[in-house]
Amino acid sequence: MAQLQNIKRIPMSEEPYFEIDHDPDKARIIRKERDKARELKKSPWWKNKLHTGLCHYCGQQFSPDQLSMDHIVPLARGGKSTKGNIVAACMECNRKKKLETPAEAILRKISGPSRSEPNS
Ligand SMILES: [Zn+2]
Repeated sequence: MAQLQNIKRIPMSEEPYFEIDHDPDKARIIRKERDKARELKKSPWWKNKLHTGLCHYCGQQFSPDQLSMDHIVPLARGGKSTKGNIVAACMECNRKKKLETPAEAILRKISGPSRSEPNS
């Protein structure tokens, strides 16, 4: 795991991400988008999503406490806290997704699961 030592884990939120190149501007934007996401969590729009209970990724039904807010394009990758970019995800899908963009998730599926392990 030595090759991971330059990657700083950000522990302070429900959507952790790995910061590879520290950029104060980007960090500021991400903080702003996180605040927006927090506001959206209080909205009837989000509460309605939780009540519907569907995970955006696997399409299965969950109780509201099993779902978390997920950015389709992660904030760390330039995603925004807009209704179009925010979905409900079950814990398992959220864990699997991590930092991947949808395109990268597709690429990983095509190339098989072993590629995401940085062992070489
Ligand atoms: Zn799911």
